[in-house]
Amino acid sequence: MYIVTFILSIGLLFSNLGHGANSPSFKLSWPTPNPAFARGLGYSTFLQKTGPDKKFTSGAYGCVRNNGYKFHEGLDLYPVKRDRGGKPEDSIYAAMDGVVSYVNPTPSYSAYGKYIVLEHPKLNPPLYSLYAHLDAITPNLKRGSTVVIAQAIGKMGNSSSGYRIPLERSHLHFEIGLRLTDKFQNWYDKKSFSSKNRHENFSGFNLVGLDPLAFYSKYKNKSLSNPIDFIKSLPTTVIVQVKTKNTPDFIKRYPTLTTPKTTSMNNGWIVTFGPYGIPIQIKPVEAMIAAKEKQIKILKFNSDTQKKPCRRLTVQKGSQFFPTEQLQTYLELIFGL
Ligand SMILES: [Zn+2]
Repeated sequence: MYIVTFILSIGLLFSNLGHGANSPSFKLSWPTPNPAFARGLGYSTFLQKTGPDKKFTSGAYGCVRNNGYKFHEGLDLYPVKRDRGGKPEDSIYAAMDGVVSYVNPTPSYSAYGKYIVLEHPKLNPPLYSLYAHLDAITPNLKRGSTVVIAQAIGKMGNSSSGYRIPLERSHLHFEIGLRLTDKFQNWYDKKSFSSKNRHENFSGFNLVGLDPLAFYSKYKNKSLSNPIDFIKSLPTTVIVQVKTKNTPDFIKRYPTLTTPKTTSMNNGWIVTFGPYGIPIQIKPVEAMIAAKEKQIKILKFNSDTQKKPCRRLTVQKGSQFFPTEQLQTYLELIFGL
């Protein structure tokens, strides 16, 4: 009986999230066996809310926590099948074809608990996807393992360090996004964290998520043939000039979001950020930045995109705008400042 249900669900996912107008190289699959999203049902049919008296949107992406003051960087998806003890039985599936980049098998090492990060090198741009709070990771998967879309990569759970997720609120925390740097350890070493970095380049600090529901919705409506179209459609939040001789590795990883430097007579970059600080374009400055200029200068700021109280990127003092700590951190990570 279980197998029949399982195959039905998968069949549904593929027929409803089918590729149609999308490019044959880009396919997306829902990361859990729940067919609700594919069927066009509402939030309550798949999002795990943070408490019994909370709204289902507390499991969505954005400023959805602590009265809007706390950011949630992905989706929380609840299980559709539990055993007699209440433990989820849902398998977790790879959202896209990709490669295993990181596995954290030790729940106490991360607020993500047991988690796995895939990277999708054949996509434009090569996104990451992250699957957290797992009960188990499929045993033979390790760094470098190739995975195909909808392949089972783990089992849903409630693993976490610190804050305990109650069994009844077991869920998959699911993210899709961009990775800021290949040299995360350098940044980490400059900060005075009390514990060591156990996750190499795959710490949450170094991963910036986009809104998975918006991404899946566009795919489902056949208005997304490639992830780059989604990123290009995001509104600009802030444009920043950064004075540095450093060349970010972000440029090598995401060539379609960036322009390389063509001359060494160049001392900076212009970065465009989308919602909540996802970098959507990086290009070299056209003229040398004067020595007296600040290292970080806000060139443009779209106040419409910052009405929500969380993850603000700029702060206004008098008539001037300054980077928030969050924006400062993103720039430190991208440019090795
Ligand atoms: Zn979450």
